[in-house]
Amino acid sequence: MTVAYDDSNVFAKILRGEIPAHVVYEDAQTLAFMDIMPAVDGHVLVIPKAKARNILDVRPEDLLAVMTTVQKIARAAKTAFLADGITVQQFSEAAGGQEVFHLHVHVLPRQAADKVRPLPRPFADQKVLAAHAEKLRAALAAA
Ligand code: AMP
Repeated sequence: MTVAYDDSNVFAKILRGEIPAHVVYEDAQTLAFMDIMPAVDGHVLVIPKAKARNILDVRPEDLLAVMTTVQKIARAAKTAFLADGITVQQFSEAAGGQEVFHLHVHVLPRQAADKVRPLPRPFADQKVLAAHAEKLRAALAAA
């Protein structure tokens, strides 16, 4: 049985404008913003605007929109961070590693010799996140 969507999650608050985010990209169906505790520099989260808890309940059309945005962000991140590769991750339910219960896909620009920061991760400096978001927006605009 799927678990009901809970409107009190932090990404629902970002969508409602109740808490800030360093937004990288937005369209009618999706929003992309910087992860505040990044696993690597340039770590972005892509979410649907529609209510979906995770991969188990998302409507296929919303998932398609999310993955289309994921590809845009991946390409921009490769350019902006001169990345050697990209890691895309999605966790569903607590046992699957999910901590925020609004569907999100992680996009991580990777360098050949980098290491993903171990959990629990520190909050990034807000100025650094703002600068990374700006680099990504510039790469998207140039694409
Ligand atoms: P997950 O384990 O897939 O549910 O990961 C949730 C992600 O959300 C983690 O990488 C957190 O660092 C990130 N996160 C939590 N709160 C915020 C927030 N307010 N803004 C941006 N990212 C967040």
